[in-house]
Amino acid sequence: MSEIIKTEAIVLNKLNYGDTSSIVSLFTKDNGRLSAIIKGGRSPKSKIGLIVDPLNHLQIIIYNKDTRDLQILSGADIISHFPKLKEDFDKLKYSYAVIELLKKLTAEHESHVRLFNGSVRILSLMESSNEHPALIFGRYFIFFLKEIGYEIQLDSCCVCGRTNLKGTDLGYNFEMGILCEHCRVDHLETYSLSAELFTYIICLKSSKKIETFNTATAEKAIIFMERYLKYHIPDFSGIQSLQLLK
Ligand SMILES: [Zn+2]
Repeated sequence: MSEIIKTEAIVLNKLNYGDTSSIVSLFTKDNGRLSAIIKGGRSPKSKIGLIVDPLNHLQIIIYNKDTRDLQILSGADIISHFPKLKEDFDKLKYSYAVIELLKKLTAEHESHVRLFNGSVRILSLMESSNEHPALIFGRYFIFFLKEIGYEIQLDSCCVCGRTNLKGTDLGYNFEMGILCEHCRVDHLETYSLSAELFTYIICLKSSKKIETFNTATAEKAIIFMERYLKYHIPDFSGIQSLQLLK
């Protein structure tokens, strides 16, 4: 069956194809992740070829045929191309981390509207907010984990059930969950969480205001989430855009 699909998309990747065309990977609002060809997309006269660039948020028209792996992109208009974000190295780095997560960890042709809207929102915040991009990305990462079915459990100690965990150094076992200061002594911890790091991650999760922000803690939180995700998805090789953090 073939059909015309009109939807919104975030551009994840663009590669040259043949002498004149491009192949793009898109995360679309209504059809999930898909690959499409822009015929003649490298010609300077191709309007679609010019605006379909990584990170851009677009309104697109796809000529879709289920029997084909590669769909045809037949129309595109810019919703936002995030010019300020692209001029700032840190913002760009963390925005590419968003793109990488979508590219590596979303299923093809599976619609996920909330994740799409959350991803557009985070790119818009990277563009307009004065908050540190590591903080903006940290909030996104915790949201992303929840949306793909790997929510981090932080409410209560997974052994004794204790809930008031703030203010003490804790352990984390990626399989079981969080370990309180007592239970971490005789249970295997795969990651240790300082009181400061724990409080920060709780703030990310609840979107509470961060009282005292420091970049080192923000980066540690991202590394923790990345390790957690690698544990659960062994094929996931980590976020290349953020390799400088390690
Ligand atoms: Zn405990």
